[in-house]
Amino acid sequence: EKFKGGLSKTRDSFVGAMNELMMEYRTVDEEFFEELEDILIAADVGVNTVMELVDELREEALRRNIKDSVNIQPLITEKLSELLVRSEQETKINMQDGELTVILVVGVNGVGKTTSIGKLANKFKQEGKKVMLAAGDTFRAGAIEQLEVWGERTDVDVIKQQAGSDPAAVMFDAVQKAKSRGADVLLCDTAGRLQNKVNLMKELEKVKRVLTREIPDAPHEVLLVLDATTGQNALSQAKIFKEVTEVTGIVLTKLDGTAKGGIVLAIRNELDIPVKYVGLGESVDDLQEFVAEQYVNGLFA
Ligand code: GDP
Repeated sequence: EKFKGGLSKTRDSFVGAMNELMMEYRTVDEEFFEELEDILIAADVGVNTVMELVDELREEALRRNIKDSVNIQPLITEKLSELLVRSEQETKINMQDGELTVILVVGVNGVGKTTSIGKLANKFKQEGKKVMLAAGDTFRAGAIEQLEVWGERTDVDVIKQQAGSDPAAVMFDAVQKAKSRGADVLLCDTAGRLQNKVNLMKELEKVKRVLTREIPDAPHEVLLVLDATTGQNALSQAKIFKEVTEVTGIVLTKLDGTAKGGIVLAIRNELDIPVKYVGLGESVDDLQEFVAEQYVNGLFA
């Protein structure tokens, strides 16, 4: 249900256009496939993914002897689901049973990083876990205070130092405190400066080094937050972060605010990083684990 609501904008435009194409009862010919390509690209599915998808559809339509638009619809749904499911990526968080799980959250400013950390804190708390936050974005003005607002809202401790301090020192302190207070999950905010790739890489490496020194296999997750409304920009951000650090999962925010929900398909197909959560609104409950079947059903059912 959440998925359905959150995807309504995408459903209205993308599926609306799809239905128009299907319902005209026309011959499935080259012109048909070209229109289909246009619709998918407009939904931000991504050119490479669209080409792949439509090529498969062409072949399969030929093989199954499908000649008209009405009969090709189930095949399209099937191919879209296949595309999402076939990579069989792990969407569960790598939780350490009975020990501290450290999750590093990365992403550029404005994508919804702080909000997503708050939503995740809430989610883990609801699962009965003790959660703490580390204010590792010491660079951006207001980032620490903003995280504290979420700390209060979700009633979890925020470990911080003053603005401008060394993020690695904040992390060290946060891990010590999380361990001594018996926390299950430590969510670590980080600065999201993409302007200087080398600095970003150095900072993230230093932070990771500190974490690994304290807990050998930490961080257990590196979640990259991407804003779905930025479309192909989100894809290029992901490519840069992938070069800079090892990203284990994606939180795709603001899916409710875009008609271009097809970006999920592009991310799955072109990045080889699993989408683990999607943001479907601004409130604390508006974060859903990503389930491919639910996504496809949210679009078509
Ligand atoms: P940060 O700079 O990356 O930490 O971004 P924020 O967490 O401050 O979020 C930026 C804006 O996006 C805020 O107004 C949030 O309420 C909004 N936002 C975050 N996630 C979502 C989402 O899933 N859906 C919608 N509609 N808005 C979101």
